[in-house]
Amino acid sequence: FSQLVRMPMSFFSKNTAAELNSRISADITQIGDTLTTGIAEFLRQFLIIVGGVTMICLISWKLALLMLAVVPPIALIAVFYGRKIRAHSRNVQDRVADSNIIVGESMMGISNVKSFTNEAYEIDRYRTATGKIVEAAIRYALSRGTFFSFIIFCLFGSIILIVWSGVQMTVHHELSAGEMLQFMFYTLFVSASIGGIPEQYAQIQRAVGASERIMEILDEVPESVSEQLKAPGLNRLTGNVSFNNVSFSYPSRKDFTVLKAISFEVKAGETIALVGPSGSGKSTLAGLLLRFYDPSSGQISFDRKEAREYDLTDLRQNMAIVPQDVLLFGGTIRDNIAYGRPGASQDDIIEASKKANAFEFIETFPDKFDTLVGDRGIQLSGGQRQRIAIARAVLKDPAILILDEATSSLDSESERLVQEALDKLMVGRTSFVIAHRLSTIRNADKIVVIEKGLVREMGNHAELMLLENGLYRSLSQLQFQPSFAESAPTVG
Ligand code: ADP
Repeated sequence: FSQLVRMPMSFFSKNTAAELNSRISADITQIGDTLTTGIAEFLRQFLIIVGGVTMICLISWKLALLMLAVVPPIALIAVFYGRKIRAHSRNVQDRVADSNIIVGESMMGISNVKSFTNEAYEIDRYRTATGKIVEAAIRYALSRGTFFSFIIFCLFGSIILIVWSGVQMTVHHELSAGEMLQFMFYTLFVSASIGGIPEQYAQIQRAVGASERIMEILDEVPESVSEQLKAPGLNRLTGNVSFNNVSFSYPSRKDFTVLKAISFEVKAGETIALVGPSGSGKSTLAGLLLRFYDPSSGQISFDRKEAREYDLTDLRQNMAIVPQDVLLFGGTIRDNIAYGRPGASQDDIIEASKKANAFEFIETFPDKFDTLVGDRGIQLSGGQRQRIAIARAVLKDPAILILDEATSSLDSESERLVQEALDKLMVGRTSFVIAHRLSTIRNADKIVVIEKGLVREMGNHAELMLLENGLYRSLSQLQFQPSFAESAPTVG
C-alpha cells in the first residue's frame, strides 16, 4: 500500500482501482496461504514420500521396484494434466474478476444507474458475466473431475497390481503376511501423498504468479514523496509562480498536445483566473502546478526556482486544492477537516471551520464534529462539502491555492457562504481559480483565457472586455445577458 499510494498519477491511468484492489487483497492472500499452510503441507507430503519409499525398499526391494515403475509415470501425467487444469482455474478467476468490476462500477455509480433506469441493463450485464463464470467453472469442474477419476483409477489399479504381486510373493514364501501388510500401508501413504502433490504444486504456482504481479508493482518507481508525516510550513514559499513556454501531453496520449507553449507570471498574493471552454486544459494546468505530471517542455517555477528542484512533499505542502466535487472520507467531520493537517488540535479545527463558514451547520448536527460522514454516515450537501474542503485548506494554510469552482450551481445562500469563505481564504495567497461562473472572477488580478490548450487572451476584466472580438467578452456577454439587460440601462 505504501508503494501504491506513492505512485505517480500516470500509474493510475494505466491501472484501474479494481485491479489494484485485487492485487492487494487476492494476490496477497494467495501468497499468505501458500506461505503458511501450502508449504507446510508440501513438506509433510514430501517427507511421507521419502520416508515411505525408504521403508518400502527395506521391506521388499522387488515389490518396491514394481511400485516405482507404476507410480512415477502416473505422477508425471498428473503434473502435465495439472497445468491444463490450472489454465481453466485461472480462466474462472478472470471471469469472477470481470463480474466484480460490474458490481463495483454499478454500486459506485448507483445514482447514474437509477437516473437512467438502467437497472435492467446492469442486471443483464451481470447475468452475462456470471453466465461466463458458470461456463468456465463447468469446464474447470469437468477437467478436474476427469483428472481425479483418472488418478483414482490409476491408484487403485496399481494397488491391486501390487497386492496381487504381494500375494503371489507370500504364496511363494518370499514375503511374510505381516511384511505384506506393512508394505500395503506404506504404499497407501505414499500414493495418497503423491496424489496430493499436483494440488500443492498448483497452489505454489498460483502463489508464484501472484508474487510476480506484486513484484511488478514493487519494481515501479514511486514519486519521491516522504513516507513519514512531515511538519508543514518548514519550507514556505512566497507564492510567485511562472509558466515559461509550458507544453504538455499526457503519457497515455502522447500524440495529443493538451497545453501549447503556455507562458504567464503570477506574483505572490495575486488571484489568477483560468477561463475557457470545457476540455481546453484548465484542470491539466492545475495538475501541472501540483506536479502530478511534469511538462513535456518548458518550465514551471515557484519563487524563481524550477519546480523540479524542490522536494515534492515540500512543494505540495505549499498548495491546497478546493476541488469541484469534494470527496469526504468515511469518518467524522473532525477527521475530514483535520485531513488538511493531520494532528491539528481541536481548537484549530473549530477555528478553521469558523473561517470556512462551516461551524454553524456542523453545530446543528446532534453529534457536531463527531458526526459520521462518507459512505456509512450522513450525506452532506454540495455546499457543505465545499465548506469542509475550505476548512481543510484553511488548516493547511498554503501559499498557493487552487480553486476548482463547482459547475453544478449551489443555491444562492450556500453560494454566498462558500464565496465569502473563499474570499477570506484567498487573502494573502496566490490563488488559481478555475472559473465557470465569470461573475466570481471580475476582481481577479489576471484572467487567462485558454482555448484548445493555447492562451488566447490575458488581462484583467476591464482590459479583456475591451477586446472587440474577444472570447472572454463574448463568454461574458453570454453569461450575463439577462442581468445585463436589467442592470445596465445605459446600454444602447
Ligand atoms: P478542462 O479542465 O479545461 O475542462 P482538462 O484539462 O480536463 O480540460 O482536459 C484537457 C484535455 O486533456 C481534454 O482533451 C481531455 O480529454 C484531456 N485529458 C484530461 N485528462 C487526461 C488524462 N488523464 N489522460 C489523457 N488525456 C486527458
